[in-house]
Amino acid sequence: MELTSIKGIGEKTAALFDKLNIKDTGDLLRFFPAEYDLFSDISTIDRIKPGDIAAVKVYITSQPLLRHIKKMSILSFNISDGHGEMSVVYFNAPYLRNSIKRGEECVFRGKVMLRGKTLSFNNPRKYKTEDYEKLSGTKQPIYHTTKGLSSNAIQKAVKKAYEAELGIGINRKTSPLYDKLPENIIAKRKLMPYYEAIMNIHMPTDDDSLFAARTRLAYEEFYDYIIKMTRLGTYSRPNHYPMIDVADTGRFIELLPYKLTPDQSDVWNSIRNDLSSDKRMVRLLQGDVGSGKTVIAILSLLMCVSNGYQGAFMAPTEVLASQHYETVNKLIDEYKLPFKPVLLTGLIKGKARKEILESIKNGDANLIIGTHALFQDSVEYKNLALAITDEQHRFGVLQRESLVGKGDQPAVLIMSATPIPRTLAMILYGDLEVSTIHTMPVGRLPIKNCVVDTSYRPTAYKFIISEVKAGHQVYIICPQIDAGELIGVENVTEYSVQLRASLPEDIRIGVLHGQMSSAAKDKVMDDFAHGNIDVLVSTTVVEVGVNVPNATVMYVENAERFGLAQLHQLRGRVGRSDMQSFCIFMMNNSSDTAKERLDILLNSNDGFEIAAQDMKLRGPGDIFGIRQSGDVIFDIGDIYQDSELILWAKEDTAEVLI
Ligand code: ADP
Ligand code: MG
Repeated sequence: MELTSIKGIGEKTAALFDKLNIKDTGDLLRFFPAEYDLFSDISTIDRIKPGDIAAVKVYITSQPLLRHIKKMSILSFNISDGHGEMSVVYFNAPYLRNSIKRGEECVFRGKVMLRGKTLSFNNPRKYKTEDYEKLSGTKQPIYHTTKGLSSNAIQKAVKKAYEAELGIGINRKTSPLYDKLPENIIAKRKLMPYYEAIMNIHMPTDDDSLFAARTRLAYEEFYDYIIKMTRLGTYSRPNHYPMIDVADTGRFIELLPYKLTPDQSDVWNSIRNDLSSDKRMVRLLQGDVGSGKTVIAILSLLMCVSNGYQGAFMAPTEVLASQHYETVNKLIDEYKLPFKPVLLTGLIKGKARKEILESIKNGDANLIIGTHALFQDSVEYKNLALAITDEQHRFGVLQRESLVGKGDQPAVLIMSATPIPRTLAMILYGDLEVSTIHTMPVGRLPIKNCVVDTSYRPTAYKFIISEVKAGHQVYIICPQIDAGELIGVENVTEYSVQLRASLPEDIRIGVLHGQMSSAAKDKVMDDFAHGNIDVLVSTTVVEVGVNVPNATVMYVENAERFGLAQLHQLRGRVGRSDMQSFCIFMMNNSSDTAKERLDILLNSNDGFEIAAQDMKLRGPGDIFGIRQSGDVIFDIGDIYQDSELILWAKEDTAEVLI
């Protein structure tokens, strides 16, 4: 159904939904909440303390006062509930003045702060008492938003879309609520019916049904994925591009400023054998962040081009593709490597693009580096013999399909920093060989970690300043882009402004997040990589593969909100040189369990082990909201958390696929 057929959605709103890639009710119903906000029962002012997220039922006891300081407007007033008094402050929302009436009874919900000696809410949500009572005790979905479209508006649209589709009926195959799983599987695995799962994922009635809904949807993702991967065919096909060992690779290894680690050497030997054997290579190379996968990719590509073929190197983001391109160009200068590289991304357009496409077609270019633009139909290769995907866990299923299908069955190497056990890898990726780099290059100092609460922030800032003065660089990660729906969660936009005020003026601060244009992101990442930015305030987009060895501090705000495996990936952005590096995990909502969880990170350096311990500590009911892997292959499923579901799906698909 078209979105505009829902009451309340016109062309304008539909265009906003389109920005989130939501084109019809089907897309909307599969636009799952990013997380859930638990509305606690109403508390009283004498029982709350700074740092809590609380709701209180109060009377407004003073007239609202509106002041202006510089460009900021400040609206403030007092509230009381008979147990205590508080103040409420709204920044930059002068229009609220008319809705605040002295003597009115209402509920405010927000993060409790301390202003001088009194408790205060900054920009809390205001509710009519009866409205809050309905919400109290429930989990409300929070959606990723875009400018002009709030999570609330999305929630309303989802409800209407759901009712409309339910009304039309769910038994037609075209219905977005149609259950595609075979009935016997649903029965065998006791899965929740699809239409119920969709309802509960958006509007959970209680934790159990939310859990069941999640299980059902995650299971189905794995089921579909395994069927697709298996249908791609088995990989054991003849090698169309047999290669011979070349001198270039050995010479390159000799000249490198470091020695390959034993694991790197082993992997390289396997790949060399693969490329020269009569069977086509399809290999997964896993290795934790910083374990040195790039050089293996370069060696493989070198062997490929020295044999007269073309090689392709695909990265999930423009930033990373450009970085690889730059790395290769440096290596060419330094080691006289026979690469003739081109960079092809979605940003390169017009004449430049045409020329690049021509050089790929006629073979003038022998190394093609880029984003998934590499595998569009318009790209024709002369003799593509090896296709490498970096950070493959960041690609969706579709891209991988087009990769395997491109050219005349080139050898395939996929690299991933999400190490998963061999058995799971074989289930998920089909019939491929798996190599793993277990150990880090030598000479790295172990990263120093600390888990702290917000009282440590001033000390942390002092530390950042001293690191910058020493010529190093710093990442600061916040969970969200703007002040979103979530209370008490730092966001890149406001944080960078506050940080500007807290750090000396000569420290250069940059901002990076996923809603910036690719060109803007590239510029910032480039500036950071070249040392023109000292402190980079970013969302987790930096998690993907970038290499800035001069960065020595990784500082994560609201660390309690991330999966430990994801924090581990973030940690891998530093400690990439012989300089001492540091990780500061800031807990903005400190509880004992949060601390206990984060402490796991201090004791282990193995992504899978970390995820497993995290799971054990939190228990399966606590799965929602914190994703482990940072994978984008699955919307809901998580290869770390759901290994049992993956095994089920494997077993069940085997019956269908015979
Ligand atoms: P990842 O596996 O996360 O892609 P990279 O390939 O980016 O890691 O490598 C991280 C850093 O380690 C790079 O600066 C690279 O030059 C360096 N490096 C790779 N292999 C070795 C090695 N054997 N000894 C020392 N440094 C190495
Ligand atoms: Mg990498």
